[in-house]
Amino acid sequence: MNKKTLDNLKDIEGKKVIVRVDFNVPLDKNGNINDDNRILMALPTIKELLKKGAKLILLSHLGRIKKESDKATKSLKVVAEALNQKLDATVKFVDSTRGVAVDEAVKDLNEGQILMLENTRFEDVQNGEVVNYESKNNPNLAKYWANLGDIFVNDAFGTAHRSHASNVGIANNMKIAVVGRLIELELRMLNKVVNEPKRPLVAIIGGAKVSDKINVIANLLKIADKVLIGGGMSYTFFKSLGKEVGDSLVENDKLSLAKSYLDNDHAGKIELPVDIACVKEFADTKPTYRAIDNISSSEMGLDIGPKTVAKYKKIIESAQTVVWNGPMGVFEFKNFAFGTESICKTIANVGTDKLFSIIGGGDSASAAIKMGFHDKFSYISTGGGASLALLEGKKLPAIEAIHNN
Ligand code: ADP
Ligand code: MG
Repeated sequence: MNKKTLDNLKDIEGKKVIVRVDFNVPLDKNGNINDDNRILMALPTIKELLKKGAKLILLSHLGRIKKESDKATKSLKVVAEALNQKLDATVKFVDSTRGVAVDEAVKDLNEGQILMLENTRFEDVQNGEVVNYESKNNPNLAKYWANLGDIFVNDAFGTAHRSHASNVGIANNMKIAVVGRLIELELRMLNKVVNEPKRPLVAIIGGAKVSDKINVIANLLKIADKVLIGGGMSYTFFKSLGKEVGDSLVENDKLSLAKSYLDNDHAGKIELPVDIACVKEFADTKPTYRAIDNISSSEMGLDIGPKTVAKYKKIIESAQTVVWNGPMGVFEFKNFAFGTESICKTIANVGTDKLFSIIGGGDSASAAIKMGFHDKFSYISTGGGASLALLEGKKLPAIEAIHNN
């Protein structure tokens, strides 16, 4: 990698180091942290900097802030408390993103201590008005945050595909800007898929964000040997072939793109499900498994079926590298967890000594972790959108903004 890292930082004892972390963790209905993987993955950088005697100022976003009332459920206070429990160091929290309270708290910060500011995206809504200061990289905000410290470390892989004030903006205003250990690790792991895969390389794409993900298939068809389709994405492909998909998830403005992938797939890389779990309404009820030509107009498909699992299993078992983004079905419902769990089992059974496996995508990663497979993959990425962008062959703006080595 040609970017500066923690290895390039010398004499940081007593220095104020701004660290952009990705603490965008899933919260449950009661506001408790559902999955703390992103906090755990940020610890190596935090601990290394603390050990060297730095004063840490942590910045992160949490969820999306579209209106004033979103702030009530999106405070980073609960995350600061969770972090405090994982470290010997003191973690202080200030419930502002800028101003006197922040300035004072930074002044009071001692060596080996951490100060966490409030959710950076609170800056997106001011007094009820949507201003997007964080999300549109407002220059005044970026300068203010940059002025809080001497050194900038970006370790927020999950937002590296976005050009925001708290990543690109700060980096552009600092004399010293480096990437942290998590970003280094993510790039090293994803590089094993994108640039130097052991073949066959199999990509598995599912989930619900069809329009976000269908574009990645163009590049996957270049770099992968097989592309297995599952989840909500499947129905856009089926409909593009003129098949009945009932009320299944479809993105009508992507039909011609899906069709063009199939038409141009002369090497036969794309694999579609052959059977589907069908139900009458979106609920956790027992499905009927049907061949894809037998879906009725009053049904919807919420998972792949056992024949598809068997077909995909064979392909995965012959692979040396697998990259997976997006669940195979509505795994949140017991009746439709089968596809996702079966693919997890297949990868687990082959084992990481024979198969290099990466799972990316927020929901697919947390599904795999919840189902008990967290140590069965070679790597679980902390960044859904960012890992997709790399798979698309794109550069990540927040990493580009870091100084070259
Ligand atoms: P990831 O976060 O892993 O990138 P997405 O956000 O794209 O994945 O999609 C995750 C969601 O996709 C899950 O909440 C799951 O319920 C949903 N999903 C999977 N298959 C289907 C389907 N056939 N129909 C509707 N939703 C689906
Ligand atoms: Mg998701």
